[in-house]
Amino acid sequence: MQAEPLLEKKMSFEEFGLRPEILRAVAEKNYTIPTPIQEKAIPIVLAGKDLIGCAQTGTGKTAAFALPILHRLQGTPWRGTGRRPIRVLVLTPTRELASQIAESFAAYGRHTALKHAIVFGGVNQGPQSQALRRGIDILVATPGRLLDLMSQGLVPLRSVETFVLDEADRMLDMGFIQDIRRVIDQLPAKRQTLFFSATMPREIQGLADTILRDPIRVAVTPVATPAEAVEQRIHYVEKSEKIKLLKHLLDGPSIKNALVFTRTKHGADAVTKQLERYAVRAEAIHGNKSQNAREKALASFKRGVTRVLVATDIAARGLDIVDLSHVVNFDLPNEPESYVHRIGRTGRAGASGIALSFCSVDERPFLADIERLIRKHLPVVEDHPYRSGYGAGTPTNLDPRQAHGAAALSQVHPDMPNRRGKYDASNTRPDGRPGRSRRESKWSGGFGASKPAPRHAEHRRAEW
Ligand code: AMP
Repeated sequence: MQAEPLLEKKMSFEEFGLRPEILRAVAEKNYTIPTPIQEKAIPIVLAGKDLIGCAQTGTGKTAAFALPILHRLQGTPWRGTGRRPIRVLVLTPTRELASQIAESFAAYGRHTALKHAIVFGGVNQGPQSQALRRGIDILVATPGRLLDLMSQGLVPLRSVETFVLDEADRMLDMGFIQDIRRVIDQLPAKRQTLFFSATMPREIQGLADTILRDPIRVAVTPVATPAEAVEQRIHYVEKSEKIKLLKHLLDGPSIKNALVFTRTKHGADAVTKQLERYAVRAEAIHGNKSQNAREKALASFKRGVTRVLVATDIAARGLDIVDLSHVVNFDLPNEPESYVHRIGRTGRAGASGIALSFCSVDERPFLADIERLIRKHLPVVEDHPYRSGYGAGTPTNLDPRQAHGAAALSQVHPDMPNRRGKYDASNTRPDGRPGRSRRESKWSGGFGASKPAPRHAEHRRAEW
């Protein structure tokens, strides 16, 4: 019998024909396989075409535009005298996103001599204007501060070759549409435009139609709807008891095999070790393991030699295990879309599957985000031996979402921005215009004081 292919043959970054200095940086980030949006978008951007990308944050969309942009800039270096012209402008709605994008350009471009700067509100403009005066190739900006600096004559945009509009739907929601148009008015008509949006409502489509030329559309599967076939349950449990709960569940009859997700590589190794101590056959797959080791682990799992495969999100991407009985979220993902991706590993090809999620106290906000995304409350398993209590006198059979009353409820209240700073229509800007999330008013765009990046940004970085 022919051996089953272990992993579908995946494309490599080398196949895009990216320059060696960029491939080197990609390898140093431990990226081995392009994400779907990267696979689709990179060739289009390299070819200089306009693009509409329907993709959310968390899909790898930053590298999908940053890598080919860096490649193109490197291929046609600026050799003039005087100040370097701005050749790439990336416009993004929040300070947090701007920081992440700038970090990505820094990381992927670290073996090039290209220069970038970041511009956002709420902080002293001095260092930003100095960077602009020194000359940069790539500018990452939020609209408000960019317009301020433009009005001071500090941001010449006539040399922009590539314009990236990131999270266009959020921009629109946050009331930035006029600001965007004012920026675009200053850009050369002959340019490449890359337009990214998680959703494509009519207004967004309308905006895209006016600023793009013969764009090529790419979309990565929307992830807001988990497969109907997957039964989902929540286990409230203290962090320290999660491993015992996992063991307890594995001792029962229902789990034939399980793909267990942890947030970090370190977590994946720790869970695997502990399971082995419990004499459960388990292996970990994550970005620190070679492709060969990952394939071997997957093969043993598919053959039923190992019963548990412990993975991080990126490592599990593209895994197609036809006969997977359970997905276990040992840690809840901080990106709610990852939850949908994870549980979609089971219940494939018409089979039923079960997704169990462990939720400790500190993960409740993540659960609230997930429930908001999938638009339903997940059923809670009450009768397990590690059910966490919620303080003296609190009946343990109460769902902590109720036991914690207002505090817990506020996490799903529509007035609150969720942890990713998503906008809710009920928010208004300080000037009364609809549109800015509270997060945005706090973290960017010139309202409120400068603050360190929000906590979840750290989680995001730790995740892969
Ligand atoms: P983004 O959607 O651009 O915010 O990216 C989400 C996360 O995925 C970031 O932490 C990136 O560093 C990471 N990432 C992007 N592309 C890859 C890849 N091909 N392999 C592994 N990690 C990636």
